[in-house]
Amino acid sequence: MLKKEDRMFPNLYGTESPGLAAAKARGSWVDTKTLLEKGRDGIIAEMKASGLRGRGGAGFPTGMKWSFMPKEIGDKPHFLVINADESEPGTCKDRDILRHEPHKLLEGALLAAFAMGAHTAYIYIRGEFYHEAQAVNKAIDEARDAGLIGKNACGSGWDFDIYVHRGAGAYICGEETALLNSLEGKKGQPRNKPPFPAMAGLYACPTTVNNVETIASAPDILRRGGAWFAGLGRDEKNTGTKLFCLSGHVNTPCNVEEEMGIPLKELIEKHAGGVRGGWDNLKAIIPGGSSTPLLPKDICGAVRMDYDSLREVQSGLGTAAVIVMDQSTDIIYAIARLSYFYMHESCGQCTPCREGTGWIWRIMQRMVKGNATVSEIDMLLDVTKQIEGHTICAHGDASAWPIQGLIRHFRDEMEDRIRTYRKTAPRIAA
Ligand code: SF4
Repeated sequence: MLKKEDRMFPNLYGTESPGLAAAKARGSWVDTKTLLEKGRDGIIAEMKASGLRGRGGAGFPTGMKWSFMPKEIGDKPHFLVINADESEPGTCKDRDILRHEPHKLLEGALLAAFAMGAHTAYIYIRGEFYHEAQAVNKAIDEARDAGLIGKNACGSGWDFDIYVHRGAGAYICGEETALLNSLEGKKGQPRNKPPFPAMAGLYACPTTVNNVETIASAPDILRRGGAWFAGLGRDEKNTGTKLFCLSGHVNTPCNVEEEMGIPLKELIEKHAGGVRGGWDNLKAIIPGGSSTPLLPKDICGAVRMDYDSLREVQSGLGTAAVIVMDQSTDIIYAIARLSYFYMHESCGQCTPCREGTGWIWRIMQRMVKGNATVSEIDMLLDVTKQIEGHTICAHGDASAWPIQGLIRHFRDEMEDRIRTYRKTAPRIAA
């Protein structure tokens, strides 16, 4: 279990004020100028040493991502864009940072922007986060009034400002290039890559897009040292602490900061009061937000919560949003509901995603009833394979993986339902 002194987000539950004075008392904005004096290369080296991987879902090494920005500032300005569009079903961790620890985010933004040569940062926040946007704007005003951001931020000689931009609620705007298009006032649709944002991002200028938790982790990493962060976690590729969102059929749903690599069972039993009705009542768990393939109980009992452990069992850490489903769950219906979500949120640019997500949803509606043939399970799997890897953004994969997880682990249940339907409604099924 993570030691209290190793937590980076002591006010995750909002037990104290999110205001500047309280944030300073918790350690934010202390000697930030000294941290900036490490220099651009020094900051990036420390982030690389920490082993921090992006907390938005993809898990790309943060220090390396920062190093992709051009070394020299040319005729185009550099931008930092913070992705606060948190829309993955089951995920609600960034929200708690935005409303309870906004100064962690702002200090991290200054440090990250300085390291990448950006004088301006934007926080793209999902439109539904109205109160969170207010909380962040209030913190920005406090920081600006205190000289922590703005001209000569923290007395460092670096000018830095930050703006909040509210989205309009489209899930796909959480994809970094769709987010940039939306920020520019265009339709929120992903861009074809390359070029990647580090070369041509916001307004075709060098840009880095990072998740809220990633940026908010930077101050502690730089203050305590990359080696401290790297000393936490399972191994050198799965380091540090992580915010986990525990929801579904648990006794006490919550967000919690824990060490990367904590066993899934321990995470649920220690922090969420266990599975409703006990561990034996567990049916399956979606470990990393709705797009990651579910895991059945026998795997859940042994797996650890980190990028590589979950990849080894054909799932993923994603946003670390753990959705627990007990034996009362109609697992086919649950995954069908996610299919509807991914169909609804497809931006429609790529044929496999635009058409395939609709096919999946229509077949899944029949699978829920059992009004299908056993061979259609293979056809459904084939449709997911035709989408996966054949689109310009990860939304296609996200629509395919939940179905693949269902078929991988609950094919028997799907076949049973088809057989039962044939017995009870033989005229229709014939
Ligand atoms: Fe749009 Fe889907 Fe293509 Fe992504 S994969 S760009 S959401 S159509």
